[in-house]
Amino acid sequence: MSAAAAVPERARLVAEGLTVGYGQLVVARNLDLSVAAGEVLLLMGANGAGKTTTLMTIAGALPALGGRVTWAGRELEGPVHRRVAAGIGVVLDERGSISRLTAAQNLRLCGGSIARALELFPELQDHLDRRAGLLSGGQQKMLSLALALSRSPAILLADELSLGLAPQVVERLLAAVRATADRGAAVVMVEQHARRALGIADRVAVLAGGTIEVSGPTAQVRAEVETILAQGYLRTSAARGRAERVPGSATKETRAVGPSSPALDQ
Ligand code: ATP
Repeated sequence: MSAAAAVPERARLVAEGLTVGYGQLVVARNLDLSVAAGEVLLLMGANGAGKTTTLMTIAGALPALGGRVTWAGRELEGPVHRRVAAGIGVVLDERGSISRLTAAQNLRLCGGSIARALELFPELQDHLDRRAGLLSGGQQKMLSLALALSRSPAILLADELSLGLAPQVVERLLAAVRATADRGAAVVMVEQHARRALGIADRVAVLAGGTIEVSGPTAQVRAEVETILAQGYLRTSAARGRAERVPGSATKETRAVGPSSPALDQ
């Protein structure tokens, strides 16, 4: 047996031919994505390109319209709560917690370790007995991420962790995401601060025109991605219109997104 063959292959989260959208509305089709345990995949694209929709589909919060998602060769199935129970950490929006419960109650409810959560975000210590809904935006994001990470997930799916947060908090959250991958999780993240997130990403995929325009290891595609960012995604095909209806489906007008939004990260 050769030395190379003796190295055990790392588990991978793989999306194959994944088509995502809402009912009859296809947002992106035939997506092929792959991220190994220990890696961070950054999903980029203009506003409306379908990043959140893709992440929600991988999480099981939306049904796939086509294709499949596998982890270590086994298909991920069932709704989001079942995938979370099976070891996927999901941070899909700022309300990752139950606002009427205290931070500590939220942590207990999700079966996470409070000690682990405090290890990640010591500043939550003084707020454990506060209702989650009364925490600041940054504290709520930390709590959401702590909830997801305190169970040491094999996979972390994180959407816009840093939305509206102070730069120092953003750095902390990104560092926590990187550390999660370094401990062996496969991470897929969508991040408004694309340039900062590139700094912790092993792989990048840029969504545009309902498909993947660029993807690969960060080191290989960085120059291309920087150009896309510098142009505010204008050369990407958001301007060509991306959402479409499933052939033969009902008549409602297909939403097409016009020229892309300004660059996300300054
Ligand atoms: P952003 O950076 O603005 O969050 P995104 O790349 O995450 O953008 P999505 O939120 O995935 O994009 O949205 C992709 C498309 O799906 C958009 O045209 C959006 O209007 C549409 N969309 C989002 N949510 C729904 C929904 N619940 N029903 C129908 N269409 C939706």
